[in-house]
Amino acid sequence: MSDRSFLQWPFFEDEHRALALKLEDWAKAELIDYSATPANVDLACKELVLKLADAGWLDYCVSKKFEGGNPKLNVRSLCIIRETLARFSGLADFVFAMQGLGSGTISFFGSAEMQEKYLPDVRKGGEIAAFALTEPDAGSDAAAITTTAKKDHDSFLLNGEKTLISNGGIAD
Ligand SMILES: Cc1cc2nc3c(=O)[nH]c(=O)nc-3n(C[C@H](O)[C@H](O)[C@H](O)COP(=O)(O)OP(=O)(O)OC[C@H]3O[C@@H](n4cnc5c(N)ncnc54)[C@H](O)[C@@H]3O)c2cc1C
Repeated sequence: MSDRSFLQWPFFEDEHRALALKLEDWAKAELIDYSATPANVDLACKELVLKLADAGWLDYCVSKKFEGGNPKLNVRSLCIIRETLARFSGLADFVFAMQGLGSGTISFFGSAEMQEKYLPDVRKGGEIAAFALTEPDAGSDAAAITTTAKKDHDSFLLNGEKTLISNGGIAD
């Protein structure tokens, strides 16, 4: 049993402690097959997205502003969820983190139309998210990116090269 005494730290509230216990039970039962690296990682990621969505865990990493729910993300809940998932399955933690990271800019800065179009599907596991910042010559120095986005009628034309993009091969 891992040391979970940190849950008693004063900046956690009872809702966080209850969340940790509930997720711990769920992870024990549901992530047993994902504790080691699966033979087909892409397939496992797709399964895990749906599993996490069905259990409601993706609710925590996507703003529900346009579904009448909580528009804000609770960062302490995100930390507890990631800490718990990672102890049972690194891949489950990765999948959870990527759904949030890949849709985060839309949650925070997207237009109402964009949020309505993408966020419900990301939350329900119907679409897999990714975040493509890194380029062959732009890693830590994000300002060095050379990809361009040119307005083309009602869409954008993107030109450039990305590398090291998590979910890059399976993202929607
Ligand atoms: C498993 C994995 C998954 C990834 N997934 C994604 C993803 O989904 N989306 C995405 O956009 N990117 C992703 N990345 C890319 C990741 O974000 C970059 O690797 C990161 O930004 C660092 O860039 P770099 O590898 O080019 O290293 P560099 O920026 O070249 O840095 C090399 C080294 O120099 C150090 N360094 C850099 N700048 C400074 C400085 N100013 N002062 C002191 N030290 C410095 C760094 O700490 C590092 O040790 C992923 C990377 C990995 C390994």
